[in-house]
Amino acid sequence: MQTNLADFIKDTPEGKTAEAILRSCVHCGFCLATCPTYQLLGDELDSPRGRIYLIKEMLEGNPVTAKTQLHLDRCLTCRSCETTCPSGVQYSHLLDVGRNIVEQKVPRGWVEKTKRWGLRKFLGTPTLFNNALKLGQLARPMLPTNLRNSIPKKQDAKPWPITNHTRRMLILDGCVQPALSPNINAATVRVLDKLGIQLVNLSSVNCCGAIDHHLNAHDAALQKIKHNIDAWWTQIEAGCEAIVITASGCGAMVKDYGHLLKHDMHYAKKAARISSLCRDLSEIITAESASLTPLIQPAQREKIAFHAPCTLQHGQKIVGVIERLLSTAGFELSAVNDAHLCCGSAGTYSILQPKLSQQLRDNKLAALQSGAPHTIATANIGCLTHLQSGANVPVRHWIELIDEAVVSIR
Ligand code: SF4
Ligand code: SF4
Repeated sequence: MQTNLADFIKDTPEGKTAEAILRSCVHCGFCLATCPTYQLLGDELDSPRGRIYLIKEMLEGNPVTAKTQLHLDRCLTCRSCETTCPSGVQYSHLLDVGRNIVEQKVPRGWVEKTKRWGLRKFLGTPTLFNNALKLGQLARPMLPTNLRNSIPKKQDAKPWPITNHTRRMLILDGCVQPALSPNINAATVRVLDKLGIQLVNLSSVNCCGAIDHHLNAHDAALQKIKHNIDAWWTQIEAGCEAIVITASGCGAMVKDYGHLLKHDMHYAKKAARISSLCRDLSEIITAESASLTPLIQPAQREKIAFHAPCTLQHGQKIVGVIERLLSTAGFELSAVNDAHLCCGSAGTYSILQPKLSQQLRDNKLAALQSGAPHTIATANIGCLTHLQSGANVPVRHWIELIDEAVVSIR
């Protein structure tokens, strides 16, 4: 695509990134077929190609309006378009640049600003979130059905083993996951313990920065990212092999640290190294599967449907890996139509775009539940909580199922 960027952006690092991405788009439109918002709304401006066009217009100095902002806000950042695109267009990096410019040119009203600020603080501050969740769980039985379903029931974690292995890896605790589903990281520690790996959890690191980043608070996100890099660096130098992430949303973010800090002379190298050491839990378990398989008693287990989060399949390009692990462990997997489509969770999207989000959730649940599974398994806390709010069956993290399959033979 021909571009002629305006003076305000063309010689900046963002301008150069955007120009290279814009030039790689050949306007073929293949991406329209797999874009969830285009499927629901049928408007070219709610498709990847339409949004790329809007960003190009903006970067070329044409007027930016609230309509431009609306079409960019409606994007889920699911990156399904990146998987489909034959030209390798890095859409999400272009969207970051576009959203940043539109934020400056079309200031939001105070209600919208306060909502976004409140979401960042609420979700990114574990003590605040934990206390609010506890209150919500206490009041849950008295609430109307819709509200009750949006507050997950209290979950207890089985114990974390005390481990002492030579092989050590870092684990990212996460900002909301320990409160919503504490058993996920506990199950991870138990399974990796059986594989001879000790997990190091730094209490000073909880949020990966994704919430700030996707709400356009880029400076706040970079501050968190640099803090995480500094905290992890000491452990990496002391021999930690990898950074294990149990939420695919956080994994996609940490794997992007290298890109986000590539122009920072102090952090570029460290950020690239951190990204290269980041692993989704499924990558670790797959690498250790020769040790894990003998620990799982061959058995016919329950029927499950697997929901592959966008941040796993499109963001990290991990496809079919968890399904294979579950199938090897004896679970029967039911077929899921349109598995490439987003469930509508998408970070804070379910709060900021509730109508579209609920439509996507209902479509996803219909596909997941069509094979009458006993359980839905997934790999990201956001998708898990969002799907659970409307599902007829339990929604769980896949490592909890593997953990039980291993524990059951003890
Ligand atoms: S983003 Fe990719 S698939 Fe979509 S129009 Fe551009 S080149 Fe085609
Ligand atoms: S990221 Fe998802 S919602 Fe956004 S344009 Fe691409 S496919 Fe559509």
